[in-house]
Amino acid sequence: MLELHTPIQYVRGVGPRIAGVLSEKGISTVEDLLYYLPFRYEDRANPKNIAELRAGEMASIIAEVRGSALYRTKKMPIFEMTVAQGRSAVKCIFFNGAYLKDRFKPGQLLALYGKVEEGFGKSPGGRLEMKQPQIEVLGPLPDEAEEASLLEAKLEDSLEMGRIVPIYEGTGKLNSRWFRHTIHRVLSELNPEIPDGIPPAVREHLGLMPRREAFQQAHFPLVGESRADLENSSTPAHRRLIFEELFFLEVGLELKRRNFRRRTGIKFELNDAVRAAIKRFLPFHPTAAQKRVLGEIAADMQAPVPMRRLLQGDVGSGKTIVALEAAVIAIENGYQAALMAPTEILATQHYLSARKLLEDHGYRVLLLTGSLEEDRKREARRHIAQGNAQLVIGTHALIEEKVEFAKLGLIVVDEQHRFGVMQRWRLMRKPSDELAEPDVLVMTATPIPRTLALTLYGDLDVSILDELPPGRTPIITRMISDERATEVWEFVRKQAAAGHQTYIVYPVIEGSADEPHEFTPDSAKIKGSGLKAATEMYEELRNKVLPGVRVGLLHGRLNSDEKDLVMRRFQRGEIDVLVATTVIEVGVDVPNATVMVIEHAERFGLSQMHQLRGRIGRGAAKSYCVLMTGSKISPEGQRRLDAMTRTQDGFAIAELDLELRGPGEFFGTKQSGAPAFRVANLIRDRKLLELARIEAQRIVSTEDKQISHAERTTVMSHLKTHWQRRYGLVEVG
Ligand code: ADP
Ligand code: MG
Repeated sequence: MLELHTPIQYVRGVGPRIAGVLSEKGISTVEDLLYYLPFRYEDRANPKNIAELRAGEMASIIAEVRGSALYRTKKMPIFEMTVAQGRSAVKCIFFNGAYLKDRFKPGQLLALYGKVEEGFGKSPGGRLEMKQPQIEVLGPLPDEAEEASLLEAKLEDSLEMGRIVPIYEGTGKLNSRWFRHTIHRVLSELNPEIPDGIPPAVREHLGLMPRREAFQQAHFPLVGESRADLENSSTPAHRRLIFEELFFLEVGLELKRRNFRRRTGIKFELNDAVRAAIKRFLPFHPTAAQKRVLGEIAADMQAPVPMRRLLQGDVGSGKTIVALEAAVIAIENGYQAALMAPTEILATQHYLSARKLLEDHGYRVLLLTGSLEEDRKREARRHIAQGNAQLVIGTHALIEEKVEFAKLGLIVVDEQHRFGVMQRWRLMRKPSDELAEPDVLVMTATPIPRTLALTLYGDLDVSILDELPPGRTPIITRMISDERATEVWEFVRKQAAAGHQTYIVYPVIEGSADEPHEFTPDSAKIKGSGLKAATEMYEELRNKVLPGVRVGLLHGRLNSDEKDLVMRRFQRGEIDVLVATTVIEVGVDVPNATVMVIEHAERFGLSQMHQLRGRIGRGAAKSYCVLMTGSKISPEGQRRLDAMTRTQDGFAIAELDLELRGPGEFFGTKQSGAPAFRVANLIRDRKLLELARIEAQRIVSTEDKQISHAERTTVMSHLKTHWQRRYGLVEVG
């Protein structure tokens, strides 16, 4: 009898070689295999009649091979096969189909799935055809006949036909059908009493089916199961499996939250002297939203538990000043504050503006980035370790260069929507800092839905800056084909003549992508594809297109002094047009810039374009965002561009971005710290996530009397043995 933890190679028909193939798919136990759910189902209980097929629909049919032939056209070989039911037939077409030549014999029964299309000309049996349908041969294949008759004779009918049939993603020689049979066998040999970690109280409360039944029905749905539910993974069986995964994630997180609240933070004081110090350096009246958010942050800082707060605020909503206010609270209490930015340019800019605001009031501000010379770095580290530096601004170098703070009280991480860095905060503390932990404030212009934030960060409170400072004008956004570039350059020239500045952004520097942290999923793919690169266009614009206009160039491969110089000249208005890569994506603040031209806009991610657009519209003058596009735009690219012209609401854009890209890419793929799920999908299953959270809180809280001690213990031990590894991924500093 099989158990969930039985190694997969002991399943009949698997063995060490196949086990090796499966392990590449992350399948090493019976349980892993059971979580390998079908990605699609075919209704072969009620397959369509060919006579009823309509062009445009996805259809599943069962039909007999009539004949097939391979044609050689100039471009490629095409395999054509006619399949039929009685007198109605449909033609199947396979491009580059030479490999199919001898696969099929007249009379063979096939299950086919694919899109039905109107055929050209007169097909022998009818006018409809299917291009590249998925095919499964029903009944034994000739060379497998012997084995099949021994092993699968009885299964044949029940598994392939007359039911809703699961379709699995194959791997190597293991095709969908192999998975179907193996999983079926595993289910029939599985111990009927497999452990179920969800306590009966929760199961009853939510009407969840037992685990074994859920596995059974997710793989082999009952006749009559809703097609729509199967397609959305929302049958009772799916919901049960998804809930379970989310439930244990949330239990793990809830335990963490509780532990976290027992940790000791710093109790900052916010007295009149501190308030006065803040008032003194503020260059303008804060907006109501800024006041509210600072209130939330200050309350956290005064509390004895370490702050873990996410500040979400659209581009230009004024997050920086809020961060500086928090820094002043820390400094006035005798602590140091650190502000971490994702790029050197942004760190430098923060440094310059912080110095302008704070140094006159006697605060000591210091910059530390990776590209500083070694002895300057050493000196910076010394100032930090001795406590001379009160506000330290820098890039990841702050973590990577083994900086030790004398008395670190507050860490601000700016523009952080890539989560990898979060786990490493603790590196910034001195090993001897056993007692009080610094407060942490993370700021982002790429908002994420609340439940997701809670799940990804574990214990994060969320503040929202939902008001722009006064005097902003809406940005006019237009999409223009790059064939009309001359008109765009003419517009840029006129703006320059009127004293306004322009950014022109390219996805690459010189036919290769810019530094890694600026990659988008798309720009990473465009190496050497002949796109206009920043450097080349800089030369062209400067020499030919915009004579008399002062053009500058900025990209990630300049050294930091060069970057600095260019940025400063642009800030001072000594450069009219700044040709750049996405190094200017985040945070750069030059209010006199009114035009943002993005070339090959179809290549950029949505949040990234929104960030870029956020560089303009910061002053009183009218601003323009021009999205120049090449000739090839994917449907997704088109949706991104449409969204950009339709809305300027960062929250709406982030939601759509998340939906288009899925959580993996949105959060910056692998190193993101986002948990890897087997069946759940954080976006699709948002509602279940909410439910799981509530139930997890009930289980963890000892106050809920409906949950017995024994049940609680079962959940915890189940969590330990089965789920630790997974929820461990969302470790938060
Ligand atoms: P972001 O939230 O994108 O980081 P910034 O902090 O860079 O935005 O602020 C954008 C611009 O708005 C800056 O020039 C900043 O000085 C200005 N700003 C911020 N708050 C206010 C305010 N309350 N009144 C006027 N200008 C403000
Ligand atoms: Mg900012």
